Amino acid sequence: MAATIINGKELAQELRLGMKDEVKQLKEQGVTPQLTVVLIGDNPASKSYVNGKRKASDEVGILSNIIELPTSITEEKLLQLISELNNDQDVHGILVQLPLPEHIKEQHIIEAIDPSKDVDGFHPINIGRMMTGQDTLLPCTPYGIITMLQSKNIQIAGKHAVVIGRSNIVGKPVGQLLLNENATVTYCHSKTPDLKSYTRNADILIVAMGIPNVINEDYLKDDAIVIDVGINRVNGSLTGDVDFESAKNKAAYITPVPKGVGPMTIAMLLKNTIKAAKGLSDN
Ligand code: NDP
Repeated sequence: MAATIINGKELAQELRLGMKDEVKQLKEQGVTPQLTVVLIGDNPASKSYVNGKRKASDEVGILSNIIELPTSITEEKLLQLISELNNDQDVHGILVQLPLPEHIKEQHIIEAIDPSKDVDGFHPINIGRMMTGQDTLLPCTPYGIITMLQSKNIQIAGKHAVVIGRSNIVGKPVGQLLLNENATVTYCHSKTPDLKSYTRNADILIVAMGIPNVINEDYLKDDAIVIDVGINRVNGSLTGDVDFESAKNKAAYITPVPKGVGPMTIAMLLKNTIKAAKGLSDN
């Protein structure tokens, strides 16, 4: 039987409808959630991500402010800007679009953002809170993945989840969130020998490698739940890390690319911005 497709685009749309109401209520209380995105340089992929974030913000009524800076900006100047945004009571969420130019240390920038405005959920304080199971601003892609699983009432507790990839923004945190939900978690990465021996035992398989179409049905256990995080541009079109046509024959649930995890990442960014705005309004 062919897998059930978890459509992230539709789910994100549904979530945005609910968020629209939340934003309306906040505005009635005198708080307009505001997201400031800092975009450095001319990277076309970054520009397109930032545009997507602006469009989605507009849709739910979040005020978005995009600050475009030249690649030549110094780390010092960028840190100064972040400090100003940290102190600006009208700014609830700050996002510095990655990747950064080589002369700027990513970690310096991430750690400079006030954790209560860190809507990307990358600050070590937010990561630490996530690891200790506290309520916090969660990294958007992992948060979106958990939300997708929950939207289909997929039981996570007791399942064996295998995560391929261990980046700080996807692999590591998604494994942690699955662990928080009581899955048994195995991490695989480029030094893992015999990848299939792990993936074939996965009830839930999260694929975040950045290699197009590499995971086919041969890697899957029968009725696996397959979440494809990969975004690869091949001959001008977007494709995931999973060979969708092959994998859908064996999986019980699968996410497509596009219309999968990508739109959920943006939806969770909006959710975090609203959460940050609520936090401030409570003060
Ligand atoms: P990274 O390049 O930072 O990480 C890739 C991971 O895959 C690494 O941990 C690497 O291992 C592992 N890997 C690479 N090759 C293999 C292999 N042959 N076998 C097993 N593991 C391997 O990427 P990101 O985590 O940032 O992103 C992963 C993918 O997800 C990309 O396609 C990216 O574009 C996409 N993405 C999608 C988002 C969305 O919203 N849908 C958001 C963010 C990313 P090692 O650590 O050993 O090098």
